[in-house]
This record gives sequence, structure tokens and C-alpha cells, in this order.
Amino acid sequence: MRVYNFAAGPSTLPVEVLEEAQRDLLDFNHTGMSVTEMSHRSKAFMDVNAEAQSLLRELMTIPDDYAVLFVQGGASQQFAAVPLNLMVNGKADYILTGNFATKAYEEALKYGDAAVAASSKDKNFTYIPDMKEVKFRDGIDYVHITTNNTIFGTRYTSLPETDAPIVADMSSNILSEVTDVTKFGLIYAGAQKNVAPAGVTIVIAKRSLLGKHKNICPTMLRYDIQDKNDSLYNTPPCFPIYIAMLVLRRLKKLGGVKAMQEVNEYKAKLLYDFIDGSKLYKNYVEKKDRSLMNVPFVTGSEELDAKFVKEATANGLVSLKGHRLVGGMRASIYNAMPVEGVKALIEFMKKFERENG
Ligand SMILES: *Cc1c(COP(=O)(O)O)cnc(C)c1O
Repeated sequence: MRVYNFAAGPSTLPVEVLEEAQRDLLDFNHTGMSVTEMSHRSKAFMDVNAEAQSLLRELMTIPDDYAVLFVQGGASQQFAAVPLNLMVNGKADYILTGNFATKAYEEALKYGDAAVAASSKDKNFTYIPDMKEVKFRDGIDYVHITTNNTIFGTRYTSLPETDAPIVADMSSNILSEVTDVTKFGLIYAGAQKNVAPAGVTIVIAKRSLLGKHKNICPTMLRYDIQDKNDSLYNTPPCFPIYIAMLVLRRLKKLGGVKAMQEVNEYKAKLLYDFIDGSKLYKNYVEKKDRSLMNVPFVTGSEELDAKFVKEATANGLVSLKGHRLVGGMRASIYNAMPVEGVKALIEFMKKFERENG
């Protein structure tokens, strides 16, 4: 039996997509083999690669002067790839809004003069700094932000005010809300939260920024090389790219990113409204900065939190344990989490509160 899986990543995929992949597994498109078994240079796979790319371009309205790449190494590899490719003048500013943002900054320190322009560490990353107040240094190559903070449950609702290119880690909110790509120099996202299984990482980069990499930049990490080779410089993660294609086809059928955003706002509102109205549960994030994707909450008692997670699991609501840096619970309600899953969670939370409140 399928459960409602609230895991932060890898995370739930649409059941229709899994069923289609299951049907295709032994014989994809009359090739007599699965996507995992065929040459990445075969027409059958090149078509998958091209369709996944063109669907992403269409769904996110990505202009032609941006490259769309499917690479490996996860978002964490991008923490190094970004400075290696873009720190042309050796200087970049970072905004620290969580664990991954801090890791990105620490990696950049290895390759140049990275500096912290703002941080919300003072309140355990429960808010996003006010973009009107953040000042950047002159001559920087880019400003790095993390648009959704998966562990702490915050998201940006406005962007840094700067002429420097904005580089964004969108691993946990890509395709969840409408994004104006032209406001960014580069966007990257590990696929395993909103798009596909782990193994493929999406990079969307303004082409005019590419080709100026540092000499030490590994060939595999060079965006210009990946772009020239249509992400087929070496063997790509074929199966995750194929699942991404199916997820993107479904998203298009459902009405695209705007329609998905409406559903996501509805799901998040249901859950936050319930938490705010309850006596037992609390979410400590600044209201205006609350994530649509990751909803952390606590009961105030570690013992009760543990009991909650255990009983929820027994009721088919799984992976609700919060990250060790925050404790309590976290419900990740990505694109693939149906409204019914959120409603089932709320019903369980009500029952648990009646029994333990
Ligand atoms: C999950 C996540 C990462 C790490 O992704 P990997 O693909 O495991 O390297 C980085 N940034 C954000 C915002 C994430 O949610």
C-alpha cells in the first residue's frame, strides 16, 4: 500500500509517473529495453533528453540566451561549480539563511573572496533577512541565495537589490511557484525534491556568464562544456532525466507552474492555519517567510514529538521526523504531495492533539 510520504528528499513522486515508468520498464517506446539499458547516444534517449529540456524551458519560460543543463553531483557539487565557473574577479557575496546556504559559502571560500552579506543565524534561521537592508560589496561576480530553506522552512519572497548576477539554489522549490528566470544569472537545483529521483541536477545559466571559468575548474564542472554538449559530455543520469521528463509532462498537463503554485499555496495554508489555530503545535518561522514546501513544527515536548512521529508512521503518514538541527517534525509538501495527503495529516494531528493535548 502507498503511504503519504513527507520526506524532505529524496521525496514522493506522482503515482501516475511511477506507474508509467513501470509500464515502460521492460520495453521503452518499442526499443525492447528500458531507458537504463540504452546508449545515451541512441535516438530514443536523445529524444528524452531533448524533451525534458524543452519542457523545462517552456514551463519556466526560460529565454534562449540561457543554457539548460542536466548534470550530476547534486546541489552540493554546485557549491563548488558556481565559484569555479563564475568567480571571474574572485569576489562573491553570500546570504546565509540555513545549512545549505552556509555550506555553499564555505565551499566558495576555497576558490576566492567569498563574504557574508547577511545571515539569519542569530534566530536559528527562522526568517529571511530584509532584502531592502542588505548591502553588497562593489565588484562582486555574483550574489548567492538559497530561495527555499529545506531544513528551516523559510523561503524568499523578494530578491536581493543588486546589479550583480543572482545565483540561486532552488533545490527545494524549483517549479513550485512562478519564477522570473531573467532576474537570475544562474539557478541550480538537485532534482530529488520536486522533479525526479536523485542523480540529476538542473542548472539554468545565462550564457553570457559562461566560458570565463577558472583554469583549475574541472572539465566536468564547466558549464560551457556541458552546454556545448547538450549535457551529454559524458554518460548522463539517464533514468532520472527520463523521470524528470514524465514529471514535467504531468506538470504541463496540470496547467503548468502557475496552477501548481495555487495548489501549493492552498496546501500550505491548510497546514499553517491548522498549526496556528491549535494549542499543541507550533511553527517558529516568521509568518511572511514561511516555506510553501517544508513545514517544520513542534509540540514543545521531545517525548511527545517522538510519539507523534511513531503513531503517524503507523497511520501511513511517514518521514515526518524533523531535521536534527531543528528537532520536532517537518512535513515536506512538494508538488507531488496531493491535497488529500495534507488533509490526512491534519486529521491525524487533530486526533493526536485530542488524545495528548
Ligand atoms: C537538498 C538540498 C541540497 C543538497 O542537495 P544534494 O543534491 O544532496 O547535494 C542543497 N540545497 C538545498 C536547498 C537542498 O534542499
